[in-house]
Amino acid sequence: MATIQSATGPLDTEQLGFTLMHEHVLVMWPPMYQQYPELFDRAATMASAVEKLKRAKASGVDTMVDLTPIDLGRDPAFIREAAQLSGMQIIVATGLYYQVPFYFHHRPDEAMVDRFVKDITEGISTTGVRAGVIKCATEPEMHPMNERVLRASAKAHRATGVPICTHTYPANRTGLDQQRVFKEEGVDLGRTVIGHSDDSGDIDYLDRIIQNGSYCGMDRIGLQAPRTDAQRADMVTALVERGYANRITLSHDSSCHIDMIPEGIVEQMLPQWNPTHIPTTIVPMLRERGVSEAAIDQMTRLNPKRLFEQTQGY
Ligand SMILES: [Zn+2]
Repeated sequence: MATIQSATGPLDTEQLGFTLMHEHVLVMWPPMYQQYPELFDRAATMASAVEKLKRAKASGVDTMVDLTPIDLGRDPAFIREAAQLSGMQIIVATGLYYQVPFYFHHRPDEAMVDRFVKDITEGISTTGVRAGVIKCATEPEMHPMNERVLRASAKAHRATGVPICTHTYPANRTGLDQQRVFKEEGVDLGRTVIGHSDDSGDIDYLDRIIQNGSYCGMDRIGLQAPRTDAQRADMVTALVERGYANRITLSHDSSCHIDMIPEGIVEQMLPQWNPTHIPTTIVPMLRERGVSEAAIDQMTRLNPKRLFEQTQGY
């Protein structure tokens, strides 16, 4: 048992319940709305987000980890309001996507680390919302600037103890690059989730990620490319058969609102890409494939709880 920070305040890890480890409330490019505020209808976006979160809650999801980094429009006040209005427990992230913003180009890594740590220990901006997880990405491959983001994330993790959850480009096996950098920074890989691993069809790659100690984030479920639901469910089953249920987390990487795709397209073209899909469709698919209730419970409840229970810096 441990107390962690959610969008609406402290949360006991016993209350986490069924947890989606990689989702988003908002994904957007804020400079657009600084210049063209007429392009963002906050009230309508809030109403639609709340409806989607309520549906997810009704389908059995208790907690969502919002892995929106600073530079993809993280908005803690919006997330807190959506959590309050929907009843969904949401954990907010700090960290950067895969590039170093211009602001930090000629400043030391510590400038990034200090901001991340401040988000975690004091709160984001003046909202009082504290981040409970660190997000970083490597896309499409690791480069020196990306490495700076990963090292800063690792340092903030070690200073605060909150877990690291990543985005990778599995075709380039970038999860292994991330693990190497984290290891060099002294990170206990058992406190990291290597995300988007289910975009890979290479079980040897996923086996290596798990053998190195990280959790495999099977967290793009519902997107039918590059892998279908059936292929993703088959891979989860194969990993469970190897005895790895204690090293897998499940999620969709869906967004209540994502501004890089025009409105209505996600609902129309990607109807399975929403936070109800795992409890309503994928869990039954896993059962059909012989995955036990204990393993399902492990992936959806116990693993998130164990990740968040390790709250000490080191
Ligand atoms: Zn994501």
